[in-house]
Amino acid sequence: LTRVLTGITTSGTPHLGNYVGAIRPAVAASRAPHVESFYFLADYHALIKVQDPARVQRSTLEIAATWLACGLEPDKVWFYRQSDVPEVQELTWFLTCVAGKGLLNRAHAYKAAVDKNREAGEDDDAGVSAGLFMYPVLMAADILLFNANQVPVGRDQIQHIEMARDIGQRFNHLYGEAAGKDYFVLPEAVIDENVATLPGLDGRKMSKSYDNTIPLFAPRETLKKLIYSIVTDSRAPGEAKDADTSNVFQLYQAFASHEETAAMRRAFADGIAWGEAKQALFERIDREISPLREKYDALIAQPAHIETILRDGAQRLRERYARPTLDALRSAVGLRDLS
Ligand code: ATP
Repeated sequence: LTRVLTGITTSGTPHLGNYVGAIRPAVAASRAPHVESFYFLADYHALIKVQDPARVQRSTLEIAATWLACGLEPDKVWFYRQSDVPEVQELTWFLTCVAGKGLLNRAHAYKAAVDKNREAGEDDDAGVSAGLFMYPVLMAADILLFNANQVPVGRDQIQHIEMARDIGQRFNHLYGEAAGKDYFVLPEAVIDENVATLPGLDGRKMSKSYDNTIPLFAPRETLKKLIYSIVTDSRAPGEAKDADTSNVFQLYQAFASHEETAAMRRAFADGIAWGEAKQALFERIDREISPLREKYDALIAQPAHIETILRDGAQRLRERYARPTLDALRSAVGLRDLS
């Protein structure tokens, strides 16, 4: 049995990138045989970036409704809100105490913040919270708590999965040798070459933090308006356009079939007008999203129903895995077993 774990940070409204990069492949993968899937709403993670409680709550509801609208079956998979499983925090502390600080100094997310400060002539750690620094340990706890073997991620996250392996291995070494067993399975990052990283409206990676997103379930008219606002070069109709460097083409490719993509590539070479390319992109996305949007709109109007699903998922998960695992780990490190 392979255990696959996927999380989305509850830091804003889910967008086309989250759908293409995480939700669509994850829902398809959950239907494969011999797979046990874990999907969580990463709200502890959201606090690193967002100190706006209303935004975190709204995002939690939106992301939960999105998973359900996209076909996730909550009685066949583990579907939960991270903070409903406080064992994640308890494990985070155990892992914090074995994680090397030097290892965390090298984490991409932290280093990017330091580099930005240096460029601006600020102190290395100006404005950097301990939460951002510790983020790889929280992520290791998410993964190791459920002994997930596989974590589908984008390339930028490979290093954090390696850190989870490193931290898990260190714990196994320190506490497992005397006990004659490994406490944690070491996870692997799974990179799907067919899954694209979508550009946002401004051409950078589409990301909730950059405010450059196309919300997955924006109303039709808004979807159209946003697609028409994607940055393009100034080539006129009739002038050949380079598909490979075009944001419009990259988005189109993420939704279209091979044949449709090949036809669009030819149209670019033949000098399709930007307006026409954007109209085709809008129609292609709307064709796939429309039926899901209807389900989403119905779900988002029933927050109590979603809340029940999330609480039920977390409760079952705690009883089945999280609490027994933590009880064993407490004994392993020399604390009282609470059970
Ligand atoms: P934040 O800015 O808060 O980090 P985000 O929108 O960049 O948010 P996450 O919530 O961290 O995304 O990521 C959830 C999942 O969506 C991850 O699997 C990630 O790889 C995927 N994802 C995020 N942005 C994109 C994108 N532009 N293209 C493809 N996949 C993406």
